Amino acid sequence: MDYQKYILPHIWNLKPYSSARDEFKGNEGIFLDANENPLGSPTTHNWNRYPDPYQLEIKEKLSKIKNCPKENIFLGNGSDEAIDLLIRMTCTPGQQEIIICPPTYGMYEVSANINNIDLVKVDLTDNYQLDIPTIVKAINHKTRLIFICSPNNPTGNKINRIDIYQILNHFTEGFVVIDEAYIDFSDEPSFLLELKQFPNLIVLQTLSKAYGLASLRLGMAFADEVLINLFNKIKPPYNISGATQEQVIVALDNKDFVNNSIKEIRSQIKYLISELELISNVIKIYPSDANFLLVKFNEANRLFDYLITQKVITRNRSSVPLCSDTIRITIGTQLENSSLIQNIKEFYNH
Ligand SMILES: *Cc1c(COP(=O)(O)O)cnc(C)c1O
Repeated sequence: MDYQKYILPHIWNLKPYSSARDEFKGNEGIFLDANENPLGSPTTHNWNRYPDPYQLEIKEKLSKIKNCPKENIFLGNGSDEAIDLLIRMTCTPGQQEIIICPPTYGMYEVSANINNIDLVKVDLTDNYQLDIPTIVKAINHKTRLIFICSPNNPTGNKINRIDIYQILNHFTEGFVVIDEAYIDFSDEPSFLLELKQFPNLIVLQTLSKAYGLASLRLGMAFADEVLINLFNKIKPPYNISGATQEQVIVALDNKDFVNNSIKEIRSQIKYLISELELISNVIKIYPSDANFLLVKFNEANRLFDYLITQKVITRNRSSVPLCSDTIRITIGTQLENSSLIQNIKEFYNH
């Protein structure tokens, strides 16, 4: 793939900011180069030194966990940072377009809007799969990015693998971004194992969901080394804080916590489904490969409001295209889930 053709020229030619930590790498010495406070920090732990701009220690661990060379990994302040950087390196207002497939994750649209980039929306089909013929028709010389979320948010289902291959094979004049924020909850293998076959593929993952680290803000983009180098060139120099780096390095050694969480959430999903199936006002429970359920209810809006009065907070998706009368329910603990069920039953019994 001739990457230069699909990257904005000013980004391709950009001379990046060179930080103090870029110009001298090493841990020992007298550091008088970065205008830091040499005395430490007003906290119990010292944070006075700038962190590694390229987070190599995290990448080495991730490389083993994900079975992916570290040269193919970019780390962002949440995957949202990767989405924004990607749009900024490939699209100019009025010149390039982005295709998204609603109902899907809201940040693709917001990020496109912030950057003033035209969006083409090709709705999913009634069973929340890609509408391949319409996507193929929507692709034109302006198309630069296609966002596919699998498992999809807010619907919860995975997108048919064969359909994703079709798009990857058909759209080679730009990039196919597969957002796998929920892949850890699914049996589906990640597309990141296919980076070599598809130079137009970019895979996004995050530590915000199964890894239980939403507050630390660590998102990952996996792509060809050329693209990773461009991400690194345009990101803010120290985009991942030292505190985050330190905690993530510890977290990545605790595979048991993540695996146990996934097991527990899967068993809670089964429990929730079995309870919801007994409630006659539940119209439909959509299949989920994620850590949430999309559920169609009678009187979804009123139920949602009632749940809030009971201090049970869910996400009303009723106004989202193809999701009328639905509520998205994140899987909680056993106690939280049984309380949710109790409250739903009370709402309908009044
Ligand atoms: C939660 C979520 C993310 C994660 O965003 P972060 O910025 O990494 O917290 C990305 N994509 C989708 C579809 C999500 O639902």
